[in-house]
Amino acid sequence: MESVRLGVDGVYFCRLSYGSELVSELRDFAVENKVDSGFFTAIGAVQNAVLGFYKQGEKKYVEEKFEESLEIVSCIGNIALKEDETFVHAHACFSKEDNSTVGGHLVSARVFAGEVFLFAFDDKLKRRFDEATGLWLVDLKS
Ligand code: ZN
Repeated sequence: MESVRLGVDGVYFCRLSYGSELVSELRDFAVENKVDSGFFTAIGAVQNAVLGFYKQGEKKYVEEKFEESLEIVSCIGNIALKEDETFVHAHACFSKEDNSTVGGHLVSARVFAGEVFLFAFDDKLKRRFDEATGLWLVDLKS
């Protein structure tokens, strides 16, 4: 395991905008506030969502869209730089009206309402392409 100790530069509490796209809104906020590395949690509800599942053998995501009202049971993720661009990586678990749940890599979601705690760190985290997984993983050696 590799690790790095990060200092917290500040903590934001954010209310997501009705009708916005959740991942994009977080990315835009991070860019505007110069958050190059961070961690966040979100709860609330969305009007739809696209979830991804990474097929390890094929090294590619398959996506599924859910066109229904969903509760955000839990959404967690991080912010890092990918080729010098701010990149938001989020995973989410959503519940349906019957309280069954779906979850996975969060591709996108249309916000109904949402509350976010975002911890901004004082160091930069950078992603680098990893041959073994085919993913852009956080590189702690640079
Ligand atoms: Zn993911």
